[in-house]
Amino acid sequence: MDKKIIEQLLKLQETDKRIYQLEKKVSQYPTEVMELEEQKKEELKKLDSIKKELKKLNSEKKDKELDIQEKREKIQKIEISLNNVKTNREYRELLRQKAILEKEILNIEDKILEIMEKLENLENEKDSLEKEINEKLREIDEEIEKKNSALEKSKRELEDLKSLRENLAKEIDPQFISKYELIRSKVSDGLVIAMIDDNNDVCPACFIVLPPRLYSDILKNPEKLFICPNCGRFLCSKENV
Ligand SMILES: [Zn+2]
Repeated sequence: MDKKIIEQLLKLQETDKRIYQLEKKVSQYPTEVMELEEQKKEELKKLDSIKKELKKLNSEKKDKELDIQEKREKIQKIEISLNNVKTNREYRELLRQKAILEKEILNIEDKILEIMEKLENLENEKDSLEKEINEKLREIDEEIEKKNSALEKSKRELEDLKSLRENLAKEIDPQFISKYELIRSKVSDGLVIAMIDDNNDVCPACFIVLPPRLYSDILKNPEKLFICPNCGRFLCSKENV
């Protein structure tokens, strides 16, 4: 009589174990997806320093161009004044000033060229980094997509398992079900029925050495359920599996 109940309870325990594992998996998904979203943010941050540097160089370039413009305006004014000077000394002085400005413009133009070269290199660097990052973002998105569909699948499986569990429980003698639930509520690992080996006289759940009488009774009566005197779990002979 107990033989069938042992089979039913073992099936119930197996189902509970699968439900527990799936629930754990389902509860981990949100954290896993959040971590992936974080990874995406980190990838995008890699561009920040290049973007900052580009901005800085562009504004330096603009400042220098304005500088050149100002100097050119000054040269134009000097050229107008050259037509109206009265003395040679004044004339030479204006020419000297004009020459200085022209030299300064050349220097600034050299610097602008240097900046433009840096800008070009940085733009290239940015392009290849962007490509790399986009590839990574695509991979991460794929992984998120996979996790989402795995979550949906797990949820459906869980629903099926729960209704299976309900049906299994209905078929079992209520007296054993309530005992099973009581033990399950007290143990943390979900192991309600511990199987006893014919060459090891310990409870495999709490590791206490079983009293010799109990041990031999378990082995002699594989169709019966016993109770571990230490942890309170069901014990039965391994012959049942
Ligand atoms: Zn035990």
